[in-house]
Amino acid sequence: MEKRLIGKIGLVTGAGSGIGRAIAVRFAKEGAIVGIHYYQNKDGAEETLETVFAAGGEGIMLQADVSVAREVDEMIATLVERYGTIDVLVNNSGIGSAYSPDRVHEIDGQDWDRVIEVNLKGYMLTAKAVLPYLIDKGKGSIINISSIRGLSGAPALASYCASKGGVVLLTKEMALDYACYGIRVNCICPGFIETEMFSRYLNRQENANLARNKFAKMALLGRIGFPEEIASVCAFLASDAASFVTGIALPVDGGYVANGVREM
Ligand code: NAD
Repeated sequence: MEKRLIGKIGLVTGAGSGIGRAIAVRFAKEGAIVGIHYYQNKDGAEETLETVFAAGGEGIMLQADVSVAREVDEMIATLVERYGTIDVLVNNSGIGSAYSPDRVHEIDGQDWDRVIEVNLKGYMLTAKAVLPYLIDKGKGSIINISSIRGLSGAPALASYCASKGGVVLLTKEMALDYACYGIRVNCICPGFIETEMFSRYLNRQENANLARNKFAKMALLGRIGFPEEIASVCAFLASDAASFVTGIALPVDGGYVANGVREM
């Protein structure tokens, strides 16, 4: 494997499972030191850290609720105190609505607030805490994990779609504000990926197996993706190989968006 991230310090939020874990491990394999952020899943973060060590990498576990500014600021301060700086932020933490169907006329206000707080405000708060270091250095890369749900609507997913759509435009807006400091801001829009979040989503469907096959067929490549397939793209965006890439919302979805399918 190419080692494109040697000398870089990265932070991956929600790295105790799924896509975040795969990104943290990939970063380590490519030579980065990684901050492995978790919220409640300490065991998961420990497993990620062990995998990073097993790959010959270096990292630290960091706990925070990304929707609470004070906790986020403390997390970034701890990382910088330990390693001296930060070069790459991957905003990956995310939740779905606790309710299904999540439609506007039935919405629970607190549930809506929580989804927006974690999925959108959390990305802003973490970027806000990291940006002063990147501005000082005159370079850096921020990668936000949105979703295909941020590019097109999906039935009964109001709060999730709104939060992920917000991430796409927050990314583009930040790319404009920080290009002059040499900071690139991009976003990845994963399709259906084999993780705990996807399993939870499947289990809410009438028939999980049928739903899995349906979602797989919606991608041109005819299958569900793997977290490592998001991680490899994320490592590229974090690296200097992507030095002329900023402000994009890149679907990594096996062709789901290109397929233009409707889920009604
Ligand atoms: P996951 O549930 O394994 O990971 C989500 C992570 O977010 C967990 O580690 C969780 O602890 C963390 N988190 C939740 N609330 C938090 C909070 N308040 N503060 C900090 N962290 C918190 O799911 P995943 O599929 O790996 O999801 C990772 C990202 O990818 C999410 O942003 C998700 O929306 C996005 N995504 C996933 C898919 C998919 O099919 N799996 C598709 C598109 C986008």
